[in-house]
Amino acid sequence: MPAIFFGHGNPMNAIQTNVYTNAWAEIGRSIPNPKAVLSISAHWYIPEVAVTAMEQPRTIHDFGGFPQELFDVKYPAPGSPELAARVNELIGGGVKLDSTDWGLDHGTWSVLCHVFPDADIPVVQLSIDETQPSEWHYEFAKRLSSLRDEGILIIGSGNLVHNLRAYGWGTKDVEPFDWAVRFDNQAKKMMLDGDHPPLSNYLSMGADARLAAPTPEHFLPLLYVLALQNEADPVTFPVSGFDGGSISMTCVRIG
Ligand code: ZN
Repeated sequence: MPAIFFGHGNPMNAIQTNVYTNAWAEIGRSIPNPKAVLSISAHWYIPEVAVTAMEQPRTIHDFGGFPQELFDVKYPAPGSPELAARVNELIGGGVKLDSTDWGLDHGTWSVLCHVFPDADIPVVQLSIDETQPSEWHYEFAKRLSSLRDEGILIIGSGNLVHNLRAYGWGTKDVEPFDWAVRFDNQAKKMMLDGDHPPLSNYLSMGADARLAAPTPEHFLPLLYVLALQNEADPVTFPVSGFDGGSISMTCVRIG
């Protein structure tokens, strides 16, 4: 099973059809049908490691200021307490099995509603522990690698470049910032070269990195995918492009 990082961008992608959502749908058609999906979303960034463990996760509309049509979207995929327990086992125990609080946030469902529109594949979310440094996440994610052989699709959902302060709100067809393009290209070259250490310690990559990821949560899901790459796995970028000048829609597929 491949592992895939999705640049989810604007939540409105959930109810739009555009080059990004068409590419996500094509990914869904191009990969083997997974037994379940394990999603690491930028939007579950909390001070502990938790997995959703309920039979039926709710659709969380974790944003404001969008049209009612977006709040009406439901992604009724089942959960998988079995996968949640397996994740806890692989990690070595101590994971909070969340059967009441979280569910599927828009980092997960705004993408999966295009990849698997029938919502018939069980989905589990794994939180990002905000108390840990970036290198920790890269090493931690390696514990999940055997899930790929067990038919589980692991996805990270964030954005390789995500700077909302610089985002062109309300403007159309804004050109991407030079620093955003530079960082996106530099990261892609490192991925093609299998050069992961600078990415796992991305704050060491200089000023462009600090502008691209002024906060960690949208960048870290990428590390969960890169950590799962085996030597024989090709890396490809099924989606590229920028939204609002400062959000990279780059998608990274391992395997
Ligand atoms: Zn987001």
